[in-house]
Amino acid sequence: MSFTRPASDILSHLEQVASPEDPAFEGSVTIAHPGMAAISLGDNTDRRVLGSALEQLGLSVHLLQPGDFASADLRTYELVLTSPALARQAHNRLGEHPLQDAAAYPAVVSICAPDQDAGAASGSDAAITLPQDPAALLAQLSVILYAHRAFARRYQSAMEELRLNRRIFRSVTSGISVADVTKPDMPLTYVNPAFEVMTGYSLEEVVGRNCRFLQRNERDQPGVALLRKAIANQEQTTAVLRNFRRDGTSFWNELVISPIRNRDGELTHYVGIQNDVTARMEFEAALRQSEKLAAVNRLAATMAHEINNPLESVMNLLFLAQHETDPERLKHYISEADNEVRRIAVITTESLRFYRQSTRPRAVDCDDLLTSVLDLYAPKLSRFNIEVVHHRRAHAPVVCLESEVRQVVSNMVRNAIDAMRADAGRLEVRTRVRTDWKSGLRGVALTFADTGTGMSADVLRKLFTPFFTTKGDAGTGLGLWVSSNIVERHRGHIAVRSSQNPRWAGTVFTVFLPFDGVREMPSQDSLLPAAESLLSGL
Ligand code: ADP
Repeated sequence: MSFTRPASDILSHLEQVASPEDPAFEGSVTIAHPGMAAISLGDNTDRRVLGSALEQLGLSVHLLQPGDFASADLRTYELVLTSPALARQAHNRLGEHPLQDAAAYPAVVSICAPDQDAGAASGSDAAITLPQDPAALLAQLSVILYAHRAFARRYQSAMEELRLNRRIFRSVTSGISVADVTKPDMPLTYVNPAFEVMTGYSLEEVVGRNCRFLQRNERDQPGVALLRKAIANQEQTTAVLRNFRRDGTSFWNELVISPIRNRDGELTHYVGIQNDVTARMEFEAALRQSEKLAAVNRLAATMAHEINNPLESVMNLLFLAQHETDPERLKHYISEADNEVRRIAVITTESLRFYRQSTRPRAVDCDDLLTSVLDLYAPKLSRFNIEVVHHRRAHAPVVCLESEVRQVVSNMVRNAIDAMRADAGRLEVRTRVRTDWKSGLRGVALTFADTGTGMSADVLRKLFTPFFTTKGDAGTGLGLWVSSNIVERHRGHIAVRSSQNPRWAGTVFTVFLPFDGVREMPSQDSLLPAAESLLSGL
């Protein structure tokens, strides 16, 4: 006896079915017609011997004439025993049915003569040589039946598992796509109904195509680069892409791709799970936009207020000058008015500087920059009786995006003022050249030491978190978050120490900027809150 078609062939074929939409999943799976056997043999002796063995195995036996064999529906039997030639014919006929009926196939057994060679039985599931001892024949037939039933059960449970997977794939609301990595250009082999709804493309339209068609001409998105890198390294990743539906409208697609490997560990497929995150992206953009508008609003209000005071003085001085006859006093009024007008000019120039977007790094003297920011805050510092000491020890310029660094400095000074406004205090500002022990980079450290309220451990922990503020409506909680982003982009860092001990309360911020650390052009977004620090500072 020999098995000519191992059941594992069919099972492994099933495992390789990549798409749950494959017809293999359709149809019902049954272990067909247990207990029926058909014998079609010319030789009566063989039929009798086989018939009695099969009956001992509990099978009811149908004898088919070779003439009936061609028209009989062999799928109604569990076992078919016949000559090698008819077995091949049976096999071909059964093969005409799609794979899903495999469990309903009978085991086709060739009955060979002792002098027939094994090749004659190819095309059948097993071969038995007759005549032979009845006990041996019974044993062989029971093994064949056992193997056939075991295979049918395994087939059925594998099929049920796959069908369950298909139901899951079909019912999830996230889009699912499967791409074949083994084929050129990684074509899609499957997409689920949620993918079809999300993109407007049907399964038939996308199968065989690389999924890049969803990006249309927008190929140089950062998310695409992320996906390419992950695929090259056979890794999982998440990226947000701007994709286009079939009708041309765009949507934001948050895509998670994961590599799928076969039993030998070789990468065969990538599965993608995608969600339409357009609403979330629009909300975030609106939030950024409203922050920007709020900043512009506050800038306008503060500037109007700050300009109004010197403007009123100018008007008063001009009124006095108009009615003054003494040349000395007239000169004095005009000189005073000139000072006030200059003050207005400083305010507008500095404000505009915040809006001038740095796109090109340039060499900046940190002490000059500190002086210009401190000048801007001079009225406020003196209003709150804050003494300022500036130690200048940076002897070389730092290549940086000037307006961004100005924003950081301004934020540090404004926070120090806020921490000291309730009481008089002292702000010490220092620069010095230093080597950063972590990165080994040389640069300038800017230190801002105030004698303000200091911070609790809890505040220190949340300091750089966006929107964290202890100032209620007066704060935005964006200052230090934006500052740390800017400094990191310059390959620098911010350190902070603080104490609330009544005897030495205060805070020291140190901003380290490498001499040549700036890495990239600032993005539009990073500049949005650029006016923030100035606004509440004035
Ligand atoms: P905002 O100033 O709008 O609150 P920041 O991000 O600049 O936003 O600061 C966050 C918080 O950090 C402040 O609300 C304050 O509690 C604390 N903080 C920052 N600098 C100082 C400082 N020099 N002294 C005391 N607290 C400070």
